[in-house]
Amino acid sequence: MRASVRTMRATRRAVPGCLAAILVAGCAISQQQEVDLGASTAAQVSAELPLLRDEAVVRYISALGAQLTQVTDTRDLTWHFTVVDSKEVNAFALPGGWIYVNRGLIERASSMSELAGVMAHEIGHVTRRHSVEQMQQAQGADAGVVLLCTLTKVCESGAGQAAVGVGGSALFAKFSRSDEAEADAEAVATTVKAGVSPYGIPSMFRVLLAERKTNPGALDAFFASHPLEEDRIAHTEAQIATYPASELQKLSKDTPAFQSFRRRLLAMPPSPAPKKAPAGTAQRTSTENGGSQQ
Ligand SMILES: [Zn+2]
Repeated sequence: MRASVRTMRATRRAVPGCLAAILVAGCAISQQQEVDLGASTAAQVSAELPLLRDEAVVRYISALGAQLTQVTDTRDLTWHFTVVDSKEVNAFALPGGWIYVNRGLIERASSMSELAGVMAHEIGHVTRRHSVEQMQQAQGADAGVVLLCTLTKVCESGAGQAAVGVGGSALFAKFSRSDEAEADAEAVATTVKAGVSPYGIPSMFRVLLAERKTNPGALDAFFASHPLEEDRIAHTEAQIATYPASELQKLSKDTPAFQSFRRRLLAMPPSPAPKKAPAGTAQRTSTENGGSQQ
């Protein structure tokens, strides 16, 4: 395992030009490289995480996602929305337009606007290119190795894939506070443009913060990648208050389609237990991740 990481680091040093610079200092990644990185990582995510393929679930999450992206995406990305069959509360985005929401988060949302707020926040991380920057900047070998794997295909060997240790939260370093503030601001603007009440955003924050007090373990993954403090509620509410009340009143808080989607998830068999990382891989737990990142 260590030998394969050393091999990959040696290969990384040998990569010339912009790619090497991306890995070391973050030179600009083209949109095509960003999409390739997302696609390759999404393939690894689907191999590692239990994804819900239920047709009605896929249809609903994709339709809600499209309602949001069509008012905010200026780069004409192809978006992919997926529900992860996990009882942990989490949501994450991959560069290029892949958005994942855990079943555990959806089951805790009481209305469409709460789920839409989380999705709009994740969409904001992609449109502001935080997700690709996060992968570029993540400390340690993991993110660099993943990027190298994606852009050069050196990871097609089994050893290379083992070195990546994708899955869980290995790829998802903590976003900075300014990234979170930007994604929150994007979420407010996006939901309003999409006809959805932005009050779902602070409302979902309250749900998550309350649950952190009573059941902290279930939210480790979310808080490891998305630092959430009470001041984000105040900032979001202040931004919402800049819209005319008459405009806000017209926006949709909930829909029967969301409630039937949520009931469908609640009626499914329990989510499978999370896979344990094989000893010695580059994978980290979300808690370690949150503790070691900036
Ligand atoms: Zn975030």
